[in-house]
Amino acid sequence: MERVRRIPDRFRWFHETRRSAAVNHGIDPSLLGELLDLGLPHAGAGEDLLLDGIDCTNLSLCLRLRAPRRIALRGWGRALRSEAAGQARRHQLRIVPRCPYPGHPGGCGFRVLPDAVLDAAHETAGATAVLDGCDARVHLPADPSAGQSVPAELRPVLDTLSEVDYQILPRELERDLAFLRDSNLACCMLASTLLVQEAALRGIEARPSFGLTVVPPFAMPHAWVEFRVAGRWTAWDPHLLKALRAWGLCDADSWPDDRALSRFFLRLGARSGPVATHHGLHTDVSMTVV
Ligand SMILES: [Zn+2]
Repeated sequence: MERVRRIPDRFRWFHETRRSAAVNHGIDPSLLGELLDLGLPHAGAGEDLLLDGIDCTNLSLCLRLRAPRRIALRGWGRALRSEAAGQARRHQLRIVPRCPYPGHPGGCGFRVLPDAVLDAAHETAGATAVLDGCDARVHLPADPSAGQSVPAELRPVLDTLSEVDYQILPRELERDLAFLRDSNLACCMLASTLLVQEAALRGIEARPSFGLTVVPPFAMPHAWVEFRVAGRWTAWDPHLLKALRAWGLCDADSWPDDRALSRFFLRLGARSGPVATHHGLHTDVSMTVV
């Protein structure tokens, strides 16, 4: 709860009801009572009580509650356990956009991955994809960095996050480095913003990256940093591994911080963009990986 309270109240949007907190986040009535006693921010009272969705998501993950997001993340545990050999894999990624106004006149004008740059196979150690409508054939190449330690010159960059906890943050804070320094909290976007800055200060070649995690059964948006090592762009992401450990999805023995994670990421570009658009505007998607 103390970590939740490090996010200022002005960034909260109270729209989760008691029922949606239970269904979407696994926060049952008795747990909710305990959380309210501990100071969980809320609006209203009684049956009209409302909670912030990001608070609910963070609590649900930290407390390892049974909720759809956690079930989706379980694939990470399986993927990391089966990943030791670093062999090449292929996946089918299906991106299904959701119409925000069902029943509207005319077609939906969906575009999938409108800003994606998927042709960097010659220089990336991560996944590449061939897009065909809503489907992408994803190739995860064999990992030349599997089992290798992080190059010594990158350690000081990655260590700038060693005291920082992973926390999903409101959009307004996703690039706020002053907030990171005050709170010791960072989402993937804020953590990658810090790492790019720290790499630049040390003269280390690094690039911001936005894209998808390609881990069955579901893909998810993610931001990370890639470092150019031996002519290839490679992602080390100890911040994500720290979160997966905190959520009980992997352990340091089987997946240490210094293992590269490039193979789990499909890079779409340097900056975050929509996975799909509906008449040019960002729209929600579901993304399955088989
Ligand atoms: Zn539509």
